[in-house]
Amino acid sequence: MKGNILITFAKKIMNLIAKEVYQIPLLFRNSINCYLVEGYVIDSGIKSSFNKIKKNLYGKDLKGHVITHAHPDHQGSSHLLCKTFDIPFICSERDKENAESGEVTSEYPSKNLVERFQMKFWAGTGYTVSKTLRENDYLGSFRVIETPGHSMGHISFFREEDGVLIAGDVATNMNLLTTIPGLHLPPKMFTTNQDLNVKSLQKLSALNPQIICFGHGPILYNKDNIFQKFVEKI
Ligand SMILES: [Zn+2]
Repeated sequence: MKGNILITFAKKIMNLIAKEVYQIPLLFRNSINCYLVEGYVIDSGIKSSFNKIKKNLYGKDLKGHVITHAHPDHQGSSHLLCKTFDIPFICSERDKENAESGEVTSEYPSKNLVERFQMKFWAGTGYTVSKTLRENDYLGSFRVIETPGHSMGHISFFREEDGVLIAGDVATNMNLLTTIPGLHLPPKMFTTNQDLNVKSLQKLSALNPQIICFGHGPILYNKDNIFQKFVEKI
């Protein structure tokens, strides 16, 4: 009975986006997202996100856990997730050191109160990386696209057949202060090289994505090429 209740609850917070692509919103108004993509868990929110993720993944056949980048709001539950489900931890070569050490704010342009808050309350323990990814590798039928800038090892994932893009934090689809949906560049405070990030956005825009899944904010169904128009205006 208790199990049934948990499963019912879990279903409510897992949204089917496209074939074998689920969004797991971890905080109110899609403030932080995790995705289950062809058996891979992409990103893991903050450390208090773990129970929510776990409930959604119960009974699923999992192949591994990948992070788009080693920041505290994407790796917070990674170590618990990999340990609990006994799945490999995967990231880009460049972010591997931070993912393993847990020093996930080391690339931030400045150290301040916000950074210290994130390290204390959001970041997870480092965990051994089993495999690294680079440009044109595949995760199931998703191609790895290197999108450096927000972190130097930031990666995105694109499925050609239906144009699904897992974009990470190259952009956010919400105002992070007000939570009002809309496309924005990621905050400078947490972005290593914004000029490089803009180049990465242009690279993603050229792929003509149809359904875009962000680390922060709702899914963007790219009607009227709203994503490309946003990128052109930057
Ligand atoms: Zn983020």
